[in-house]
Amino acid sequence: MPINFNRVEFIRSAASPKDFLRDGLPQLAFAGRSNVGKSSVINRIVNRKNFARVGASPGKTSQINYFLLDERAYLVDLPGYGYAKVSKAERDRWGRLMEAYFASGLISWGVMIVDARHKPTADDVTMAEWFYDTGCPLIVVANKLDKLKKSQIEPNLAVIRETLSLRDGDRLVAFSAEKGDGKEQLLALLERTMEA
Ligand code: GDP
Repeated sequence: MPINFNRVEFIRSAASPKDFLRDGLPQLAFAGRSNVGKSSVINRIVNRKNFARVGASPGKTSQINYFLLDERAYLVDLPGYGYAKVSKAERDRWGRLMEAYFASGLISWGVMIVDARHKPTADDVTMAEWFYDTGCPLIVVANKLDKLKKSQIEPNLAVIRETLSLRDGDRLVAFSAEKGDGKEQLLALLERTMEA
């Protein structure tokens, strides 16, 4: 049965491993640098304007948000990384939470948002490696496509693919949360993850 991406419900936030959901439903873990547009991508996927909070305050950087998608899977919104203004204490909290989540064996698929305009940062590379270590397949979403000239798209995607060392089977989707480009392709990939 096709997934109804409009059927989505916030379930809970987890600030520590005791709050992780462990009910056996697949978990699609969304990660990305702060400000890369992760909330906007999620909102675009579920057809809502303000579902995941766009421009959420840096104080929210150390919790994981769970959304139930069509009662079939969790869309797991991981706290963004690389925000310059967070304290060391907050960064440490982020690290402990993410390490615990990545070690939990709960991730079924990774979805990593990067900026289509730029070479992935060192933090992006580290995040991709965390996903690789879990053994789960990865979908990379190159967001903000609307900011690129047509001639820049393919070369930029090649740099992203290479810098993140994408493996056979990983997917790269050029996307614009603002304009909607790539949405059908991403939904089809997500749908396939949930059917697998
Ligand atoms: P998050 O911190 O990763 O959740 O990022 P947000 O979703 O809050 O987006 C950060 C900023 O990027 C906001 O000003 C968004 O309007 C903008 N943004 C997000 N996606 C796109 C996109 O596809 N194109 C453009 N031009 N701007 C975007």
